Amino acid sequence: MPKTTETVLEIDLTALGENYHYLKSRIKDTTRLLGVVKAFAYGSDALVIAKELEALGVDYLAVAYVNEGVALRDVGVRTPILVLHPQPENFETLIHRCLEPSLYNESVLKQFIKIASEKKQLNYPVHLKFNTGLNRLGFNETEVDKIVSELNATSNIKVTSLFSHLAASEDLKEKCFSESQISTFRNIAKNISSKLSYQPKLHMSNTSGILNYPDAQFDMVRTGIGLYGFSNIPEEQKNFTPIATLKSVISQIHTIKKGDTVGYNRAFKSDGTIVTATIPIGHADGISRAYGNGKGWVMVRGIKAPIIGNVCMDMIMINVTGIVCEEGDEVVLFGNDNKADLLAETIDSISYELLTAISQRVKRVFYRK
Ligand SMILES: *Cc1c(COP(=O)(O)O)cnc(C)c1O
Repeated sequence: MPKTTETVLEIDLTALGENYHYLKSRIKDTTRLLGVVKAFAYGSDALVIAKELEALGVDYLAVAYVNEGVALRDVGVRTPILVLHPQPENFETLIHRCLEPSLYNESVLKQFIKIASEKKQLNYPVHLKFNTGLNRLGFNETEVDKIVSELNATSNIKVTSLFSHLAASEDLKEKCFSESQISTFRNIAKNISSKLSYQPKLHMSNTSGILNYPDAQFDMVRTGIGLYGFSNIPEEQKNFTPIATLKSVISQIHTIKKGDTVGYNRAFKSDGTIVTATIPIGHADGISRAYGNGKGWVMVRGIKAPIIGNVCMDMIMINVTGIVCEEGDEVVLFGNDNKADLLAETIDSISYELLTAISQRVKRVFYRK
């Protein structure tokens, strides 16, 4: 990539393909792969990433909300799209754009059947979500009979898949809990399947589930963070390449003396003569105000320069004392060498939050190696 002269998020499409192929190598040939592209494909660009995954041969895509699915259909994405958390008020749009809802309780199931019937749909594909311990969304195991009677009374919808979600797939301290979730899901699936005249597909694992629970692949896996280059598992990280690099530039350099302060509320007070640099990226770009005052850094010529004072809306200031650098130099907030999860950790956050926070104001630039 040429040197940047403004704040950019560079997206490596070659790395996306490599992560995709690595994840494929970890699942059986018969297991399908669903690529999760919610939240602008984890802060990158959902439209570009969905098209790229489609070209790679992904079996399914998933988004959180209906409007995210509509945006993909608008640019011609034709792969089946699961909407993980649709709101009933958007069910008509969902059907109109051939999106497939996750239905997670009796009320949304009934509302969806009603709309599918009004729209004269036959066997409209839906996915039933089961709660096996995350206690977020999903039918409980005890609701199977009720669901089956609803399903057997309609031809407007047909269950493409049954799925559930692991609460702590990356955390091996919770292995027993994850195993119990998997076995609960097996029981639910067996029970429902025995009462329907057809066999819905099953899926449960996210990225860390693929890596830690190879026996829980079922018919499909759902991977998000792995495609974007993070495994959540230190020993696995070497097999993944982060696709996003957040870069900016040095706008101005100041030499300040002992007792001088930097930024709003004079939060940083210098205890000697130091050199500071101002970078055009702030909390409006997704660099949380929880950074600063010693938390977080920016790489300047390969050296960590700490963020000092309070993060402003459009700027941060860093301490570059002892680093040979000048105005116009490129700096890196995160990338392949200094990974986003390490920066996020400094404020007790995770890669997911930092990546998805990068605001739409930051220009996305795509490249292949
Ligand atoms: C976001 C999400 C995923 C993807 O999880 P990763 O950890 O990013 O692989 C999978 N399934 C569901 C239900 C999700 O909400």
